[in-house]
Amino acid sequence: MEENKMNAQPIDSKIPEGPIAEKWTNYKAHQKLVNPANKRKLDIIVVGTGLAGASAAATLGEMGFNVLNFCIQDSPSQELSERR
Ligand SMILES: Cc1cc2nc3c(=O)[nH]c(=O)nc-3n(C[C@H](O)[C@H](O)[C@H](O)COP(=O)(O)OP(=O)(O)OC[C@H]3O[C@@H](n4cnc5c(N)ncnc54)[C@H](O)[C@@H]3O)c2cc1C
Repeated sequence: MEENKMNAQPIDSKIPEGPIAEKWTNYKAHQKLVNPANKRKLDIIVVGTGLAGASAAATLGEMGFNVLNFCIQDSPSQELSERR
């Protein structure tokens, strides 16, 4: 167990270069765009069907991607109704 920890490679979190205030702008400016013709060839997995996950899945689906939205509850809206 100890030996495994010693040999573990550091995780590459792919943090964008540059000052922190410019990281997000730099990241967006240098991202490769998906050709609209290739959207149907890409599967996007969204974990969670809360407000953020459901919104992201719906938006990406409307944009033409194949979206798989995984939910841990019996139904996507169950968690919100349980909070009320
Ligand atoms: C009691 C309560 C009352 C609230 N009332 C209001 C209100 O009246 N108005 C308002 O605007 N906001 C309210 N909020 C806040 C609002 O619910 C949250 O801001 C909002 O739900 C956050 O959305 P989210 O998508 O980021 O996270 P969540 O809604 O928490 O969604 C995350 C989802 O991911 C799922 N998940 C996590 N791990 C996994 C996994 N490993 N596999 C699959 N699924 C997973 C979770 O089960 C959950 O469904 C309330 C919050 C609480 C706790």
